[in-house]
Amino acid sequence: MPAQTVDSFEFCRLGERLSGATPVAGFDRLLRDLADANGEIRWRFEGGRHPQGLPQLAMAVEGEVTLVCQRCLAPFVHPIASETLLVLASDEASADEVEQRLDDDSLEVIAGSTALDLLQLVEDEALLSLPLSPRHPVCPGDVLAVAVDKPESPFAVLKKLKT
Ligand SMILES: [Zn+2]
Repeated sequence: MPAQTVDSFEFCRLGERLSGATPVAGFDRLLRDLADANGEIRWRFEGGRHPQGLPQLAMAVEGEVTLVCQRCLAPFVHPIASETLLVLASDEASADEVEQRLDDDSLEVIAGSTALDLLQLVEDEALLSLPLSPRHPVCPGDVLAVAVDKPESPFAVLKKLKT
């Protein structure tokens, strides 16, 4: 497992940016939920300051991973694209308190660290973005059935109304 460790407090204070791409094969925990190790996860971090004065990290994670459809057991590609705002509490103990104080569902509060591994955050985010029960929107074998069941087009309905 590769690591990308930064002093998260300094990173935010200095408004630093860091981006990269890590092969899916490098993420051990993520790999357990995937059909294969193809592809890479691209990530981007930008340090800053939350309006309430706390350090914040903007994180973007994107890529494509291969999952197994639970219905037909065939592999399919699942795109990952997420942007998250992380606010850094000074430690684990204060993270809950900060979370309650900010009371903002659009961000996540985590414990900052002088040795924060950004790739762990990327992996957590990728895991969160996986569907609980992965399946094709339409399984390949079902395409025919769906075509037959297709609802009438609005134009066909209009035509009927006219006559
Ligand atoms: Zn399927």
